[in-house]
Amino acid sequence: SSHTNLTTFIEEMKHQLHVFIFPATAQGHWIPMINIAKLFAARGVKTTIISTPLHAITLSKTINHDRLSGLDINIQTIPFPAVEVGLPEGTESVNQLISPDMIPKFFLAVSMLHQPFEKLLEEYRPDIVVADMFFPWATEAAAKFGIPRLIFHGINIFCQCVDENLRINKPFESITDDKESFLVPDLPDKIEMTKSQVPQHIIGDSMFSALMEKIRESEQKSYGVLVNSFYELEPAYADHYKNAMGIRAWQIGPLSLQNSDSTLDKAERRNESTTEEHSALKWLDSKKPNSVIYVSFGSMSKLPNDQLTEIATGLEDSGCSFIWVVRKTNSEEEEKFLPEGFEERMEGKGLIIREWAPQVLILDHPAVGGFMTHCGWNSILEGITAGVPMITWPMFAEQFYNEKLVTQVLKIGSQVGAGEWNGWIETANASVKKEHISKAVTQLMSDDGEENKDMRKRVTELGEKAKRAVKEDGSSYVQFTALIEELKMSKK
Ligand code: UDP
Repeated sequence: SSHTNLTTFIEEMKHQLHVFIFPATAQGHWIPMINIAKLFAARGVKTTIISTPLHAITLSKTINHDRLSGLDINIQTIPFPAVEVGLPEGTESVNQLISPDMIPKFFLAVSMLHQPFEKLLEEYRPDIVVADMFFPWATEAAAKFGIPRLIFHGINIFCQCVDENLRINKPFESITDDKESFLVPDLPDKIEMTKSQVPQHIIGDSMFSALMEKIRESEQKSYGVLVNSFYELEPAYADHYKNAMGIRAWQIGPLSLQNSDSTLDKAERRNESTTEEHSALKWLDSKKPNSVIYVSFGSMSKLPNDQLTEIATGLEDSGCSFIWVVRKTNSEEEEKFLPEGFEERMEGKGLIIREWAPQVLILDHPAVGGFMTHCGWNSILEGITAGVPMITWPMFAEQFYNEKLVTQVLKIGSQVGAGEWNGWIETANASVKKEHISKAVTQLMSDDGEENKDMRKRVTELGEKAKRAVKEDGSSYVQFTALIEELKMSKK
């Protein structure tokens, strides 16, 4: 009867969960967190995304489609105090930082989001908060109202394990040569790295040491961690994280698959440039399967001109077709990095994208057979999901750990030979030479030896597992269901 229906409806509403999603404004964190929001909403959870004003404009386009299809997904904005900390008006995102002195100002502004966030919590009293790692104070703020907080780090569990291990055991301490390899002890696999690849905040004091300390403390006090990976990708590390480090984690990825209609990507593109990307996909349609290498260094890394010149020459010398996404440090220097006559010679052979590239769609295209990456975690996971082997070129943050995961654990890629850190704003000179670039590309794209075939086979299999993980009864799907059930139980 309609009375029973109404009672059931009221009962359901009473138990409907309300989640706050609070993403950091860096593409590598923002994109997967919006996909987390969509994931919650798709399971009938009332979802509120906390956004800064300019991001909210693009975001509302992104979620419009979801709202129209009936999902309960909304935005609350809090202002970003850019001017207050001495940043140009309208600064909201790390991509907008162009000089090193802007970094501490940016993080100061981020810490000032604490109060307005707490106000929103007080007003709306959600049942659960999922907040980015860069807001360690969110745990305390949520606890004031008895709300549990989940953390999103943006990285995989393997990185967490390596990082914690380096921090505690300091295996690099007795090493004097920065380039000498050492073994990271007590991990499920033999992981080798060099001192020059270890994050500064672990080796000594850095601008981030205090923040990293707070992040670790907040992890101890939080409900657990949501991870953009899937159990079959790093089972030994997922177990180690839980058993040896005692942290609860739910692996719910690959999150890029949550966005299978690519609405996020399309909204992102509308914001930046449209024609170029469409032409990139059309261009790929004219290419043979696995014949094109996709070269991209993420949303933040801007390389100096002489490094770009090395890449251009390296790509040309490899003789392979390529799509290369270029993000530059200095826009006045516009085209000076391209060798004489490069674009004419590369006509039909190579495509340069200067704006936002539809990366997930490019990687998924059958013509793409290799990915030269800066090892940002989203990029690697997108590469894995598409079944594309990689050439690793880490630059900063946890990217060196990711390189070890790709080359030493999963064995689905080879190193270009980047030995040391290259900041995302203050970039060093050309640290990787054209010979290394062209050799790595030729080896990956033209060599059909056993080792290469095995690598391709392994990444294809992982890609299939990735897609299975998010299907009903797949590991990520099941872990996410378990989390929601648990949260519902504690609401009752
Ligand atoms: N991305 C994109 N187009 C671009 C550059 C980046 O779609 O031109 C996306 C990419 O697919 C990934 C994210 O931006 O989802 C970058 O995250 P990642 O962790 O790889 O690196 P970061 O940018 O954080 O260094």
